[in-house]
Amino acid sequence: MQWLLAVSFGEIFLKGRNRNTFYKTATNNIKRNIKDIGYEDMYSESSKLYIKANRKDFDRLTEEIKKVFGIVYISEVVKCEKTLEDISKTSKEMIKYYEKEKDLTFKVESKRTDKSFSLTSPELNAKIGADILKGYNDLKVDIHNPDFTVFIDVKSSAYIYIKRTRGLGGLPLGSSGEGLLLLSGGIDSPVAGFMMAKRGMNINAIHFHSYPFTSKRAHQKAMDLAKILSKYTGKMTVYSINLAEIYKAISKNCPRRETTILSRRFMMRIASKISEKYEYQALITGESLGQVASQTIESMSVINESSKYPILRPLIAMDKKDIIEISEKIGSYEKAIEPYDDCCSIFAPDSPVTKPKLKYIEKSEENLDIESLEDEAINNMEIIEIA
Ligand code: ATP
Ligand code: MG
Repeated sequence: MQWLLAVSFGEIFLKGRNRNTFYKTATNNIKRNIKDIGYEDMYSESSKLYIKANRKDFDRLTEEIKKVFGIVYISEVVKCEKTLEDISKTSKEMIKYYEKEKDLTFKVESKRTDKSFSLTSPELNAKIGADILKGYNDLKVDIHNPDFTVFIDVKSSAYIYIKRTRGLGGLPLGSSGEGLLLLSGGIDSPVAGFMMAKRGMNINAIHFHSYPFTSKRAHQKAMDLAKILSKYTGKMTVYSINLAEIYKAISKNCPRRETTILSRRFMMRIASKISEKYEYQALITGESLGQVASQTIESMSVINESSKYPILRPLIAMDKKDIIEISEKIGSYEKAIEPYDDCCSIFAPDSPVTKPKLKYIEKSEENLDIESLEDEAINNMEIIEIA
C-alpha cells in the first residue's frame, strides 16, 4: 500500500485571490517544521497537500505539521487506483490497521473531485459500505454516530483514510503582518502571542525587566517562554529592556499610586519606538478586561494614548480559566507559573489608581525626562534571537 500524509487547509481557501500566497506560506511553514525529520516528496492535488514519507515517521511528522497555522486536518491516506475493485480492497485493508476492537460501527464518506467517476458519492458510499460489511461480520453501519469513518476522495487517483488529526486552524503565519508582543513572564502574554500568530501575524517580542531589582532567572523565564512560543511562531527576535532607571525616576518624582500606569505607558512608548525602527505594525498585550486593577477600561484608555500603534488585546474578553486552558494546550503554563518576580509586581503600589485620568497622568510625566530615560533604555537593550 502506498501511504501518504494528507494536509487539508481551512480558511485559506475562503480567501479568494490570496489563496495562492496563503497556500505557499503554509506549505513553506510545513517544510520548515519537518525538514529535520525528513520526507521524500510533496505535491498538491485539488486543495490538499500530500507528503510522501516513511510511515514510521508519520506520528512525529503529524506532531510537527500540527503546529502550523492554517491546517484543519492531517490524515494518513493510502493512494490507490480509481477503480471500484481497488477502492474496495484498499478500504477493507485499511480497517485492519486501525480498528482492532469488536462490534464497532462505521460509515463511508466519499467526495468526488472527479465528477466523471462512474458512481455518485452516495452510490459509492453504499457500495463500499456493503463490501466492508461482507468482509467483516462484526461491523455495523451507523451513519449518524459511527465509531469510525472510512473517507474516500476520488481525484486523479483515489485516496482513502480513516485516521485524521485535527490541526490548529487559523491562517498561515506571515499572512497578517508583523506584531510586537509585550512578553512578561506571566500566563497571559504568551497566550496572546499565540492567538495573534494563529491569525497569521508574525510575532516578535519585547520584554521589560528591572535587573538588579529582578533576578536573572526571571529574565531567563521570559526567554524560555519565548522559546516555547517560537514552536508556533517560528524564529523570533526578543528585545530585552531594562526599566530599573525608569522605575527609580518614577518612584522619586511621581505619586506612588500611579507607578503601574506610568510604567505601562513607558513600555508602550518604548515598544512604539522599537516598532518604528524595525517596522512592526501593532503591539500585542495579554490584558483582559477587569482582570487586575490596571486592566480597567479607564487604564487601558490612558495606556492607548501612549502608543503610536494599535494595541491588540486578543484576551480582552476571556476568563482566566479559558486563558489557562490555552496556555496548557500550547505548553507554556508550567513555565509561566514558576515563581519569579516580574518588574511590575516588585514596583506595584499597594493601592494603584484604577480610574486614571489622562490629564493627571500627563501632569506627573512632566516631572520626568521621558525622552532621555527612554533613549537610555533603548541604547542599552539586548537583542536575543530565539531559533
Ligand atoms: P501576564 O500574565 O501576561 O504577565 P498579567 O495578568 O500579569 O499578564 P499585567 O501585569 O497587568 O497582567 O500585564 C498586562 C500585559 O502587559 C501583559 O500581558 C504583557 O503583555 C504586558 N506586560 C506586563 N509586564 C510586562 C513586562 N515585564 N514585559 C513585557 N510586557 C509586559
Ligand atoms: Mg504579569
